[in-house]
Amino acid sequence: MSHIDEKLQPILSTLLHRNAGEKEFHQALNEVLESVGRVISKHPEYAEEALIERICEPERQIIFRVPWIDDNNEVQINRGFRVQFNSALGPYKGGLRFHPSVNVGIIKFLGFEQTFKNALTGLPIGGGKGGSDFNPRGRSNREIMRFCQSFMMELHRHIGEYIDVPAGDIGVGGREIGYMFGIYKRLTNRYEAGVLTGKGLSYGGSRARTEATGYGNAYFVQRMLGTKGTSFDGKRCVISGSGNVAIYAMEKVLSFGGKVVACSDSDGYVVDDAGIDLELVKQIKEVQRERISEYARLKGSGCHYIKGGSIWDVPCDVALPSATQNELNGGDAKSLVENGVIAIGEGANMPCTPEAVHIFQEAGVLFAPGKAANAGGVATSALEMQQNASRDSWTFEKTEERLAEIMHNIHDACAETAEEYGAPGNYVLGANITGFVRVAEAMRALGIV
Ligand code: NDP
Repeated sequence: MSHIDEKLQPILSTLLHRNAGEKEFHQALNEVLESVGRVISKHPEYAEEALIERICEPERQIIFRVPWIDDNNEVQINRGFRVQFNSALGPYKGGLRFHPSVNVGIIKFLGFEQTFKNALTGLPIGGGKGGSDFNPRGRSNREIMRFCQSFMMELHRHIGEYIDVPAGDIGVGGREIGYMFGIYKRLTNRYEAGVLTGKGLSYGGSRARTEATGYGNAYFVQRMLGTKGTSFDGKRCVISGSGNVAIYAMEKVLSFGGKVVACSDSDGYVVDDAGIDLELVKQIKEVQRERISEYARLKGSGCHYIKGGSIWDVPCDVALPSATQNELNGGDAKSLVENGVIAIGEGANMPCTPEAVHIFQEAGVLFAPGKAANAGGVATSALEMQQNASRDSWTFEKTEERLAEIMHNIHDACAETAEEYGAPGNYVLGANITGFVRVAEAMRALGIV
């Protein structure tokens, strides 16, 4: 609590106590409140009428039972969550995560971060997040479908185009969104395309949504490198994960002239000094749904697989952590700095621990926080909502052009705010303050609700 403004310390203590044991949520609260201290010194009105306390309290939290029957005819029980965090700027918006680690604290941290991220996009969307402790790994297509249907059997009561619009996240991609949209349509007897985003192109999805988070991160980092007169061109990059965000970050980095030399999954990582073969990764992960170790087996010479270990030991110029929260710790940050890293772009949500962020900032490494750098996914989801509302379908080029423009605007807003608050180059501060002020302004206008 040492860096928190003293006026905010009692608020933080109460929050930590009221959300006991939710360590990821505590981490996110600490990080945001650390930045907010500077705002309330300049604008004390934002600390009036318990605005800070209200912004840190979800508007609604839903926890529900998800019973389903597996392929062996056994009944399985999972827990479903939806945290509707803040709707000052628009309907709640944020992904659904299916992963065994999911609990209320993780969903709350993600919903809290999402609120400020969505504000940063400049589009009319509030913040929310949801998911389940369901583990999709090794489950058949039919099991995935039955689980998604049971999950939506409850969730459908709480969502809607004007209420709450979920999308994908870890473990939830196009297949799962399709199954959930199908059962939502049947339950409600409405073709309400705008209720979910990340839909397939055949039933109301947006072009470039699949690519958006990874592409967006690459656009942000490219602009950030530009402030130092450099770019991805010729840079060695390491990208953790090999899911949706990682794969499309690789694709855009390659198109910017960078070379990706390593990627991973939760079992280990592969290093390919000749440059990762993206089509092979797509085949293994998107089509076969196999482990990344397959990459080394299929690629053969010049490439090696390391089970366990840390991908951050691989020397690189730019690192894009794109797997999960707290995947890059202080030790990892030190080895990246020692190996000469110049920029980090968080593709995942909160992948770097606070200690790691501190090490990067102390070392003068350009650091793009997730809530700014990975906002391209939700921004393109909002563009999908626009297309659904106007019964329209844009070209890939038009959608990507909007995405690039949004990412550049987010970058510039964060950089300008950091400058205004006396911390040039501090994108963490810039993102937190810009997002906070946009939400706080709307909440002040709407009264105590
Ligand atoms: P995917 O499920 O498509 O991929 C996740 C990847 O990360 C997989 O390679 C997975 O490996 C790995 N991973 C997941 N959990 C762990 C773990 N505990 N330890 C190590 N590796 C892990 O998810 P996404 O790519 O969609 O999401 C990745 C991150 O990006 C998340 O933090 C998500 O919140 C964030 N994000 C996603 C957005 C989107 O549009 N999809 C938008 C903004 C942020 P394995 O297969 O072995 O589990």
